[in-house]
Amino acid sequence: MHESVHRETRRGTPAQWTALWCALGVLVITATSLTLAVVGMERDRHAQRDSKGAHVAHAASAGSAPAFEAPWGPPAPRVKMPSFRPCTFQNDTQDAGLVLLRGGIVYAPRHLGRRDVLVGGGRVLRIFDEAAEAEADNLLKLGLVTVVDVTDRLIVPGFVDMHVHVTGGGGESGPESKVPESRLSDLFKGGLTTVVGILGTDSVSRTPVELLTKINALNRSPMTAYMWTGAYKTLPEVPTVTGTVEKDIAFITPIIGTKTAISDHRSSQEDAAVLRNLVAQARVGGMLGGKAGLVYAHMGDGSAGLAPLLDVVDNTPIPITQMLPTHMGRTQQLVTEGVEWLTRGGAIDVTASSNAPNIIEQYNASVADMSRVSVSSDAYGSIPEYNAQKQLVGYDYARPDRLLAFLRTMVLSRNHDVADVLALMTENPARTLQVPKGRIEVGADADLLVLEPQSLEVVYSVARGMPVLTPECVAKDLFEH
Ligand SMILES: [Zn+2]
Repeated sequence: MHESVHRETRRGTPAQWTALWCALGVLVITATSLTLAVVGMERDRHAQRDSKGAHVAHAASAGSAPAFEAPWGPPAPRVKMPSFRPCTFQNDTQDAGLVLLRGGIVYAPRHLGRRDVLVGGGRVLRIFDEAAEAEADNLLKLGLVTVVDVTDRLIVPGFVDMHVHVTGGGGESGPESKVPESRLSDLFKGGLTTVVGILGTDSVSRTPVELLTKINALNRSPMTAYMWTGAYKTLPEVPTVTGTVEKDIAFITPIIGTKTAISDHRSSQEDAAVLRNLVAQARVGGMLGGKAGLVYAHMGDGSAGLAPLLDVVDNTPIPITQMLPTHMGRTQQLVTEGVEWLTRGGAIDVTASSNAPNIIEQYNASVADMSRVSVSSDAYGSIPEYNAQKQLVGYDYARPDRLLAFLRTMVLSRNHDVADVLALMTENPARTLQVPKGRIEVGADADLLVLEPQSLEVVYSVARGMPVLTPECVAKDLFEH
């Protein structure tokens, strides 16, 4: 195209009279514009083909494009890098548009019984009971459905984990003790399909901006990711993205609340007025952003326990549900106070450490309504090990399969009802966080796991309608090989 412009221009240059030069110039410009428009249209029309094919098509049809097409044509093609490495149900062939999980026992997390679950466009489209088996059969005749036989296996919601150090936690035993960031495949292997990213003690070498970047990356995969702004510190030092907790929650889509640390030797040791102000900011940010606007309070083992949070409840008009204390099994005092917190209408979160089954059983024995109790992994958080003299003797980090391990212990070793245990890691946290997750129902995001009934191993994981774990494959991020 540029060559043709050049030739035309040269042909015009020798003209001697200004008038003729101008007339020729106008002609050249008009002709060039038309040629450019037509060539441009053709290039865009054939953009989907390979370069050789497009070149041939362009040469053959440049002069015969219909005149009524918009000169700007369709958008130019972009070379798009995949944001993750996907899986399919049918190995090495593409899945059909719809997927039918056949013959599973659905826990939504409520027990529904034997159902076929139809997934398409990222959502649960239909849940067929046995009476509607013929309808499901009709669908198959259309040939648009990939059938996955999950006979007698459990179909449960993907786990909602509100405490995942996706950029890595730790660092409390020197710079070499910083935990590496999460890998996508490990999150999926742990049954997680919704995570809430979080910072910990270290919010100087790690920042909410870095965390938000990781959350954005996760959301470009089938994972759903939210985050807490802030870290252990409180006002005015809270690390944020925009400069204030209120604006972070109000304006940044994945930010649903802020973290803080209470009754911990690593916290800001703030006075009551500062904490009240932090909770107020989170509340108003949540109202402006249409979100929960929670203060997710890391509870340390300090003797004050929940007292600083109870002060906010007792001395402000802010409701108890604005604060969500976590690590609520850390001490026996916290369990006792947690029961009171629940009785007063608050919600609590318990870390899925090896002691979690005992803690949950204590809460279960003390409160009638467990719907405001959740369990989270604290994955990629550090696990320092101290001896009796408080000397560090070991160091490890929490793995993202802790919720799965907790489920197995509770159901297989302690004979709890699978629906009750699932609620702690699906429906309950989703309700507390006010995110549309954690349930299998028509219209909901298709975030589901297929579990082996005897071992509760994950056979399939589906996130936003896409298979991310199958017996042959697990979805990976770009740097996993
Ligand atoms: Zn943590």
